[in-house]
Amino acid sequence: MEGLIKQAARDLVKSKHAIALTGAGMSTESGIPDFRGPKGIWTTNKKAEAEAYKMYGLFLKDPKAYWVEISGSQGTYRRFYEEIRKAKPNPGHRALVELERRGILKCVITQNIDGLHEKAGNKEVLEYHGSIYKLRCISCGSRFGIEEVSLNELPPRCKCGGVLKYDVIHFKEPIPLDVREESEREALRCDLMLICGTSAVVYPFADLPIMARFGSGRSLLGLYVTGPKTNVKIIEVNAEPTPLTQEGVSDYLIRGKTGEVLPKIVEEVKKTRSAFTAEHNPFLGDQAGEVDCHQG
Ligand code: NAD
Repeated sequence: MEGLIKQAARDLVKSKHAIALTGAGMSTESGIPDFRGPKGIWTTNKKAEAEAYKMYGLFLKDPKAYWVEISGSQGTYRRFYEEIRKAKPNPGHRALVELERRGILKCVITQNIDGLHEKAGNKEVLEYHGSIYKLRCISCGSRFGIEEVSLNELPPRCKCGGVLKYDVIHFKEPIPLDVREESEREALRCDLMLICGTSAVVYPFADLPIMARFGSGRSLLGLYVTGPKTNVKIIEVNAEPTPLTQEGVSDYLIRGKTGEVLPKIVEEVKKTRSAFTAEHNPFLGDQAGEVDCHQG
């Protein structure tokens, strides 16, 4: 594993446009369970998974009933969202902040709805599956902070008259065009993709690594390239192999916890970058300031 950590640091330092893709595994060390890991919510409670599949249909049929269900005191959602609100970023989140601050990481595209990348300090974050801290109008697409909207009357409505729902994407709900297009643009443009803590089985998010590798997929941008791109590095950090590992979409998997592996990569980046900078300009050391990924 140490060899792969050094390799990842070298690949990151050499990259021109590195991006990170993250999933629920990124936040398990912050105390938020994932869905499909061994202790995941779906793994341990199949009924909750079946219920989750019904949410978008319920919203379309009866928005008021959706709001009662999602904010009801007995509901699984309310408990899950409350748990998320209490969580704090972990060393893995802080490592991605450090990579962004050093100008290496250009953006984070996350499936997570927990807002922990922003809380940690990342500036360029695309929330592919939305956020529990926002509401979105299904007519005009405007987003509002949850605290900006009164929930006294259900369903809440936008200034345009459209119905508001949580920004969070439910099963069978289309990804909003703005975030989907921007994410695809980043996937097609990147020369390094660091994929952290995702089972890579939820689509269309799981198409993004395929687009990065092949320049194709079910892309909204309609770009097709035949054959794998050789100038892109795809690195996975995960507790276990995924379909991307098994099907050879990723170049290599660093098997371990994101909260442990990512800070180690950052430490190696600091060393690699110092050597790289000194080699090119012996009068300059590594002048960038540092964020301690381990601080509380
Ligand atoms: P997933 O549950 O399908 O997969 C999680 C993956 O992370 C698994 O492969 C697991 O092995 C790995 N993992 C778990 N802990 C890890 C750790 N500490 N270090 C490294 N790897 C670890 O999650 P997904 O792929 O993100 O897709 C599920 C959907 O669940 C997403 O749409 C997401 O919106 C939603 N979700 C979000 C949160 C959150 O916001 N924190 C939590 C649960 C589910």
